[in-house]
Amino acid sequence: MSFLNKIGDYAKDAVQSAKYIGQGLSVTFDHMRRRPITVQYPYEKLIPSERFRGRIHFEFDKCIACEVCVRVCPINLPVVDWEFNKEIKKKELKHYSIDFGVCIFCANCVEYCPTNCLSVTEEYELATYDRHELNYDSVAMGRLPYKVTDDPMVTPIREFAYLPAGQISGHDLDPQIKRAGQRPEDILETLKNNTSESN
Ligand code: SF4
Ligand code: SF4
Repeated sequence: MSFLNKIGDYAKDAVQSAKYIGQGLSVTFDHMRRRPITVQYPYEKLIPSERFRGRIHFEFDKCIACEVCVRVCPINLPVVDWEFNKEIKKKELKHYSIDFGVCIFCANCVEYCPTNCLSVTEEYELATYDRHELNYDSVAMGRLPYKVTDDPMVTPIREFAYLPAGQISGHDLDPQIKRAGQRPEDILETLKNNTSESN
């Protein structure tokens, strides 16, 4: 009887194992139908989306030292160092800095700055060996933003999310080829057409 029990247990274990192997393989086979998601960084880089909030750019000459950016910042981060000039009866900016090691890139400061001297860039590679180097002063923040498309060493990839089924490279793609998904401009076009049809 115990021999039969052992055979039964063995059969149950075998069925269970086969089920688990089947589950594992189903994930593997499912990936064969999916589009690739690998970017050969740092030789290839995705072009950040239009509303990407990267390193903040600062224009010293436009700043009026109003400190609105400090008040709207969730962590009161920007440091605005100014002096009141009695002769011209105006604040004079002496120093401006933001510590990007602490900043959460919410872009509230950019949104509310009355003179538009702050702007978000698409720069996201800020890694350093020393976190104090992330405290950018007005000179560092005034540096022109880095662009993926301007770097001759990098192949920018734009088509990644819209590759046609079965296509594994975003380069040298025929612009007329049918995409797997709609690009933002196509979605806007469709919406515009739908609105004009309903009117
Ligand atoms: S809100 Fe703009 S103008 Fe005002 S202090 Fe900040 S950066 Fe300067
Ligand atoms: S992006 Fe947000 S967290 Fe960073 S300085 Fe501006 S308001 Fe503060």
